Amino acid sequence: MSKLFAIFGDPVAHSRSPLMHNSVFKNLNYKACYTRVHLTDGSKLRETFFSLGLSGANITVPHKEEAFKACDEVRGFAKNIGVVNTIINENGKLIGYNTDADGFMEAVKEFGQIKTILIIGAGGTAKALANRFIQENIKVTVLNRSKDRLTYFEELKCACHTWDDFETQKYDLVVNTTSAGLKEEILPCPLALVEKILNNTSFAADAIYGKLTPFLKLASAKNITYKDGADMLLNQGILANELFVNRELPRDEIKLYMQRSFEL
Ligand code: NDP
Repeated sequence: MSKLFAIFGDPVAHSRSPLMHNSVFKNLNYKACYTRVHLTDGSKLRETFFSLGLSGANITVPHKEEAFKACDEVRGFAKNIGVVNTIINENGKLIGYNTDADGFMEAVKEFGQIKTILIIGAGGTAKALANRFIQENIKVTVLNRSKDRLTYFEELKCACHTWDDFETQKYDLVVNTTSAGLKEEILPCPLALVEKILNNTSFAADAIYGKLTPFLKLASAKNITYKDGADMLLNQGILANELFVNRELPRDEIKLYMQRSFEL
């Protein structure tokens, strides 16, 4: 019987995940289809998952923390961070994973050794990345618009700031994990601050993909080597697909067909 997978998010129309996963399923003759679900109320994730008869799902903005709560069991790195982006239906039980952080680490390998990182934003993606960077002994600073979400990062022993009390230092990499720039043409923090940050960083990255965000446009204008979230998306997708097919398909081939879907 054919399996059904989906991505949940709000917004979700922009997501490339259906193309990526369907490209793998189609080319490797795996009997499955991947669709998208526009979910506004994250607390409805579990019931919607079951009512659609899904075998697995990805979860995107802003429901990844709600997805953690929806699971019966959470495995691996996701357990440390309370953020789930992949759910597998294992005999009627929802098992949660996080593939974003490993996906991002793989994506920034090309920047060489990174010792200091500034994360802009303090949502689910920021949590995943901060935890992963700390595992690698990278010094992490977090800058967020509002104070509340910083408590989590203070406990992780990251240097934490809001726009008001931030003093720029030198960073190897600055990464925008806010959703600023996703729908609207806006920067993740005030222009003067972004200018200062970019003048003091070697590399810039954005979790947003499929467009050049105002943040990356500014990095590009300053001749800073940058990358958008496409490779992070590809790498997290490969890891999620391996979970969907229970590692029945070879990773090289998953990668090949996912990469090809980016040309569609
Ligand atoms: P969350 O909703 O969990 O967090 C959003 C964060 O962005 C919060 O810190 C919030 O600040 C901040 N923010 C939102 N709007 C603004 C704004 N206008 N100005 C400044 N800060 C703002 O989102 P996620 O962490 O799940 O996702 C964040 C982004 O990363 C999304 O664009 C998503 O598409 C992208 N992403 C890409 C992936 C990829 O594979 N390439 C994987 C995962 C995510 P506050 O606390 O003040 O509200």
